[in-house]
Amino acid sequence: MDKLYDIIIIGEGIAGMTAAIYARRAGADVLILEKGAVGGQAALTYDIGNYPGFKSISGIELVTTIQQQVLTLGVEIRYAKVLDIEDGYIKTVKTKDMTYHCKAVILCLGATPRQLGLNKEQQLSGRGISYCAVCDGAFYRNKVVAVIGRGNVAVDDANYLSHIAKKVYIINRRDELKAQEILVDQVIDGVKAGKIEILNNCETKEIIGQEKISGLKVHNIKTNEDFDLEIDGLFVAIGRYADTQWLNHLVDIDENGYIKVDEHKCTNVKGIYSAGDCTNTVLRQLVTAASDGAIAATFAYEYAKGVVVE
Ligand SMILES: Cc1cc2nc3c(=O)[nH]c(=O)nc-3n(C[C@H](O)[C@H](O)[C@H](O)COP(=O)(O)OP(=O)(O)OC[C@H]3O[C@@H](n4cnc5c(N)ncnc54)[C@H](O)[C@@H]3O)c2cc1C
Repeated sequence: MDKLYDIIIIGEGIAGMTAAIYARRAGADVLILEKGAVGGQAALTYDIGNYPGFKSISGIELVTTIQQQVLTLGVEIRYAKVLDIEDGYIKTVKTKDMTYHCKAVILCLGATPRQLGLNKEQQLSGRGISYCAVCDGAFYRNKVVAVIGRGNVAVDDANYLSHIAKKVYIINRRDELKAQEILVDQVIDGVKAGKIEILNNCETKEIIGQEKISGLKVHNIKTNEDFDLEIDGLFVAIGRYADTQWLNHLVDIDENGYIKVDEHKCTNVKGIYSAGDCTNTVLRQLVTAASDGAIAATFAYEYAKGVVVE
């Protein structure tokens, strides 16, 4: 058999990196496998103001600082998507080109943006439709954009875009935003400055555009009116889901697609733990992802110590 790791962590977001720090400091031999780039969702965040120790820090700065800490501790990181895991006394983790072996696994898979499910959404994704304001906002300098959503991410996106775009519409199906007060206050400032306009009780019915998006057909649920909104860019921020289907055969997953864990962050399978946004947690934030990662690593390492290989 190839190298046997104590713990393989899947996902290099805040949960995964914190798990790596705890596991490595305890003495474990740790590998992180990441399908994208460092930091997960945190890397997409424009300004973080609720992570203890930092009054204001960009997501990229936070995640690269944590990654540096992880690397300094001697954690191995490889970039590949994990496609399957086989359970056993020794666990097998498979990517397209490689097979890895370990005593315990920590699933830190995070979450992915939800789509609207409208015609042309897939066709025009990347052609005016985006799911990440921090990644794509710069393309819309002095242009008109809309953000669909009402939660923290949508409101944060609208604030961020209001510093770049000429005008930002927030399209909200309900009659008020459902975000932290501090973020809503910033939106109100944007409204007063004429940079943001909130379209409450409005639903997007259709995406307009051929080669790229040029507008939306919008329906006002309260007044029963339809109208067209001319825009250059659309940012969809209607929530996230965990990409866990590929694990259906292995671990228990709840009706919303989140991995079920106990207070030790252990799944129903011995030696397989999970942490952060992909679990059935009650709060999906940076601090809770970090906390989950620490708990999962502590108990995964306890478990791994008991796996004895001659
Ligand atoms: C725009 C935005 C703004 C936010 N603002 C804040 C904020 O201000 N404060 C706050 O506390 N929280 C904020 N959040 C929420 C916070 O970012 C998340 O709760 C936190 O980052 C979750 O961390 P995680 O490690 O659980 O998951 P993620 O960050 O999603 O990381 C999961 C990682 O796993 C990888 N992965 C998934 N599947 C596989 C696979 N099969 N193989 C290999 N790798 C895989 C992914 O590529 C990803 O890198 C924000 C989120 C967004 C999107």
